[in-house]
Amino acid sequence: GTLSVGLLFGGESPEHEVSIVTARAISEHLDPARFQVRPMGIARNGVWVVNGDPFARLAAGELPTRSEHPFLPLERGAETTPLPDLFFNALHGAGGEDGQIQGYLELLHRPYTGAGLLAMAAGMDKWITKRLWESEGLLVVPYVGLTQERWKREQAVCLAECAKLGLPLFVKPANLGSSIGVEKVKQAGDLAAALDRAFTFDRRVLVEQGLDVREIEVAVLGGDEPLVSSPGEVIVADEFYTFEDKYLHGKSRTEIPAQIPEELADLVRKLAAKAFAASDGYGMARVDFFLERLTGRVFLNELNFIPGFTSISMYPKMMAASGVPYAELLTRLIDLALARHAQMA
Ligand code: ATP
Ligand code: MG
Ligand code: MG
Ligand code: MG
Repeated sequence: GTLSVGLLFGGESPEHEVSIVTARAISEHLDPARFQVRPMGIARNGVWVVNGDPFARLAAGELPTRSEHPFLPLERGAETTPLPDLFFNALHGAGGEDGQIQGYLELLHRPYTGAGLLAMAAGMDKWITKRLWESEGLLVVPYVGLTQERWKREQAVCLAECAKLGLPLFVKPANLGSSIGVEKVKQAGDLAAALDRAFTFDRRVLVEQGLDVREIEVAVLGGDEPLVSSPGEVIVADEFYTFEDKYLHGKSRTEIPAQIPEELADLVRKLAAKAFAASDGYGMARVDFFLERLTGRVFLNELNFIPGFTSISMYPKMMAASGVPYAELLTRLIDLALARHAQMA
């Protein structure tokens, strides 16, 4: 028979809209012979929308009333909704990509796509991720990590520490995505204000050396011995790869496969597999690299356990180019979820 798939999307993060687009694509491509899709939209107030057309209701910005049952995040009147056989997680960012929903789904005893709680929480945090990768001897961009408390307590010391990185700098909240809150700082005098803004998004912020780079990405799919795609490149149109560029005007182009020498592509694929393993990856991840123009050095930038995932996003396109078309990718992610659940049971 078919398996019912609770498709989780929306969520409380700033990537709410992006997630709606992702989930529509997933629901259109899931193999109807094996799966019956049950869209479950998480509204901006955290309430799960399961009745009617959850896509339309979320797109309309509805903020439904929460169930009177205090333990349930469901909308009122949906208390008798049966649990799906498994969950497909299409939530980006806070709440969905950072371990929270994974913990909840563990408590529901249902399989879910992607990695487990620890990997998701650590992978969402760029500071923790750098430490994990550094401990494996992987090269990351030089950085200074700051907490909001420390920034308030000793601004001058913090600024002096960051100054050692040179200019330009990149300031980014530790736990975000889609370039939200990421700023390029070209003058030392602008750093303090950029930090103040970054701390409105997160209590932990990274300041990184700003490199002149090509942006190379790799798609990873699987568990201990994952499939690693050939690298792709994002050829960035603006000063860096911004939110506007990613989702609004889209002037950047992508090239798949990336036009880089074969030895370099092999190196990047090996590093992606190592980074995935060091982060306890499972399911999928898009591992992002910086290729420094001047020196040819390859730095790991970050990893995204729930990367942009419409059929024309970078991750699915890289997978398709490496032999896994979108519909099959969805099936494989679900089979991986079932396999992981069976291992844990
Ligand atoms: P994603 O949407 O991929 O999850 P993100 O919000 O997690 O993005 P990053 O990938 O870390 O953020 O940074 C966004 C963009 O900013 C990068 O793609 C790159 O263009 C630029 N950038 C970030 N850090 C640096 C750096 N140290 N040097 C040069 N450019 C950088
Ligand atoms: Mg990211
Ligand atoms: Mg992201
Ligand atoms: Mg990125």
